[in-house]
Amino acid sequence: MTSWAHIPLGPPDAILGITDAFKKDIHPKKMNLGVGAYRDDDGKPYVLNAVRKAEQRIIQDKLDKEYLSITGLPSFTKEAALLAYGKDSEPLQEGLLAITQSISGTGALRVGGVFLNRFYPYHKKIYFPTPTWGNHGAIFRDSGFEIAQYRYFDKSTNGLDFEGFMEDIQSAPKNSIFLLHACAHNPTGVDPTPQQWDQISEVIKERGHLPFFDMAYQGFASGDINRDAYAVRKFVSDGHRIALSQSFAKNMGMYGERVGAFSLITESVKEKAAVDSQLKLVIRPMYSNPPMNGARIVSYVLSDSELHKEWLGEVKIMADRIKLMRKKLKHHLVEDFESKLPWNHITDQIGMFCFTGLKPEQVERLTHDYHVYLTKDGRISISGISSKNVKYLAEAIHQVTK
Ligand code: PMP
Repeated sequence: MTSWAHIPLGPPDAILGITDAFKKDIHPKKMNLGVGAYRDDDGKPYVLNAVRKAEQRIIQDKLDKEYLSITGLPSFTKEAALLAYGKDSEPLQEGLLAITQSISGTGALRVGGVFLNRFYPYHKKIYFPTPTWGNHGAIFRDSGFEIAQYRYFDKSTNGLDFEGFMEDIQSAPKNSIFLLHACAHNPTGVDPTPQQWDQISEVIKERGHLPFFDMAYQGFASGDINRDAYAVRKFVSDGHRIALSQSFAKNMGMYGERVGAFSLITESVKEKAAVDSQLKLVIRPMYSNPPMNGARIVSYVLSDSELHKEWLGEVKIMADRIKLMRKKLKHHLVEDFESKLPWNHITDQIGMFCFTGLKPEQVERLTHDYHVYLTKDGRISISGISSKNVKYLAEAIHQVTK
């Protein structure tokens, strides 16, 4: 009989483990700043009105539940492409974009990883920023890639190590693959400026690298979906044939619906057809075809001008609340608790996360003494903060850092 006794117990997921510990805590002031999911000012999950309305319409339309095609719902992928690349995008207008629906952003990265591992004609090594989202390594390792790193975050300033970043792009072997966070870098909240992106694009082009953008937060960083697409669109207009992963988890609050897309710019219509056909061959044995519900909702929202407008407003509401919490947190630390430490990075950083600069022992005290849950690297999810608990958090952070 087969025995599984040789299987070692795997480590728990770092972020989901934090939520488990948080759930067990019965302290009334406990805070979960681990998981990257938006909460409203009452600390509640937020389902967007535009999404609720789209759901109603879908029910009214009594659609069938036949299989989607392998690459998903065409009305969804069309809208996803327009959102990311913009309606003026040349490769889009010329029909050069190969795109497939995916199981949210993770699935897009994975499909992209497997596809590139099969067809990328150069070394199968991908460069990640240091640090990067915890799942990137596993996704690309499991797709058969070797992993390398480039300098990104500067601990001494809690900002971007632009020089280190540029040097590492220069010194990587030609035709390397660079994974770039399109906006709202996770976990640091630090993004290059548009001018820095321009320079990054130039050097990546000189070196012949392939830019693989991970865009999990379009709209979430600035509140403006076009501003957050700056890097992607700039690279495309500079002539890069980028790979792109998109997720609708955050910007449409579709977390559990798992809606995303993977796309690749090709050089000719013939090349696009070949890429499309091979994407199908990657996906078919993985999960055959994607789920339809979330993709339908997103396509209804994006293709209807009224719902689209309402959604844009809601993206801005979410982004603005996050910005306000950053401001309040800094204000309480500096003004109320008179912390003498530099806290500008709280408001300089952008998006769902703030890399506080807290050391592991300070994080431990924050959790143990103040019931505030966060990852060991000092990352806090700003969306877990509300007007009701922001002062408590500021006091807790002040106490463990003074
Ligand atoms: N990339 C980054 C940088 C992320 O932060 C996330 C979500 N935490 C994802 C991709 C993928 O998320 P999902 O699979 O839920 O779309």
